[in-house]
Amino acid sequence: MANRRNNNGNCMMCGRPDSPETPVVKVLDGLTLCTDCISYIDQARDTEMASRSRGRKASKHEIPKPKEIKEFLDNYIIGQEEAKKYLSVAVYNHYKRIARMEEAKEKAARSASASKKPDDILKADTDDVEIEKSNIIMVGPTGTGKTLLAKTIAKLLDVPFTIVDATVLTEAGYVGEDIESLLTRLLQACDYDVEKAERGIVFIDEIDKIARKSDNPSITRDVSGEGVQQGLLKLLEGSTVLVPPNGGRKHPEQKLIPVDTKNILFICGGAFDGIERKIASRLNTHVVGYGHDSSTKKEQRENLMRYVMPQDLKSFGLIPEIIGRLPVLTSLEPLDRDALRRILTEPRNAITRQYKKLFDIDGVKLEFSDDALDTIVDKAIEYKLGARGLRSIVETVMVDAMYEVPSSGEKEFTVTADYVKSKLRDARFGMVELKD
Ligand code: ADP
Repeated sequence: MANRRNNNGNCMMCGRPDSPETPVVKVLDGLTLCTDCISYIDQARDTEMASRSRGRKASKHEIPKPKEIKEFLDNYIIGQEEAKKYLSVAVYNHYKRIARMEEAKEKAARSASASKKPDDILKADTDDVEIEKSNIIMVGPTGTGKTLLAKTIAKLLDVPFTIVDATVLTEAGYVGEDIESLLTRLLQACDYDVEKAERGIVFIDEIDKIARKSDNPSITRDVSGEGVQQGLLKLLEGSTVLVPPNGGRKHPEQKLIPVDTKNILFICGGAFDGIERKIASRLNTHVVGYGHDSSTKKEQRENLMRYVMPQDLKSFGLIPEIIGRLPVLTSLEPLDRDALRRILTEPRNAITRQYKKLFDIDGVKLEFSDDALDTIVDKAIEYKLGARGLRSIVETVMVDAMYEVPSSGEKEFTVTADYVKSKLRDARFGMVELKD
């Protein structure tokens, strides 16, 4: 380094002196380079980055292992251990299956050039055991993390992701959106790159809302339920469907995009309100009996969801064919006080962390006292708002501070329990007078 410092202001790489054509600039303290050398370094960096990213692409068959997937989910989702585990395994198997098929195809292509029949190679490679697609269904109360789980998986895998609400779908010929239109959003999520979309994830929310009203199929057909389920079948099982590029209803003059759903992972979610009764009757337990249950009974009632089986989904009104296409069934637990408290602070992008960051940008250190966090959780429970309510409560509490603090010159701001209560009271949060 010593001789570098004595370079008389010349470029430390090529030794050239400063000149109007190639000025020598100070890059860092004690480090001077001419502009030619700087652009040379830039080029070298770009070439290296490009070759590294080619290297990454070459290993596209590498899929994170189930434990790695679960660890990633742990960063964002509190609790729900069973659902995280089931999902990690299902997603791993799904992408392993795709990778296996792609490898077989590549092999076939290589052998084709060596004048072998690609079909034979593909057959030889895949006809022993065919891994079936493992679409997933998650059952659990609203606001417990079903959508968050699906979204986080898509983030990890860097695949196109879309959320669709099953309630907007209708059978062809009825008011609402054609079933194929749920793939429109997936196409839009990846700029109509069909190949990418064909490896994406579709989260179908509120799948329970298209349940048949009765388990008895002989009862008058209800269009909104069974018809839509029948329509969904062909998407779930994997076939080439024609997708309207702009969604909505198909028009005769519209050019449709063929999309193969074979490798699209469908994750369905639903609250399935009342399914506990079906589970209880299958298990021969009583769900009712409020008031004087013992705490174990109460716990059993609350945890019945974890015993959910495919036949309960059938009793609830999903047709057996749909259930068969959703082989991975898992449940989410209701979030208790402890979980809500952790959700406030622990996930990577926990709401309190987001606010701290926002204040930090203005040079203000934001703190939430422990009792402030407890109060926020209390209010979310009091108003039966669950995890979703945490955000609206914190937003209501923080709006005045967000307005005042940036111009107040304060360097620190602490949210206390009293501050939370007073702000919620001022805002008449929940339209109810809050008691201290
Ligand atoms: P669901 O799909 O089950 O109705 P969401 O996944 O949409 O619920 O959850 C709503 C919001 O609540 C999420 O965006 C997240 O902020 C928060 N949330 C819910 N459950 C969890 C959880 N288990 N861990 C962390 N945050 C959660």
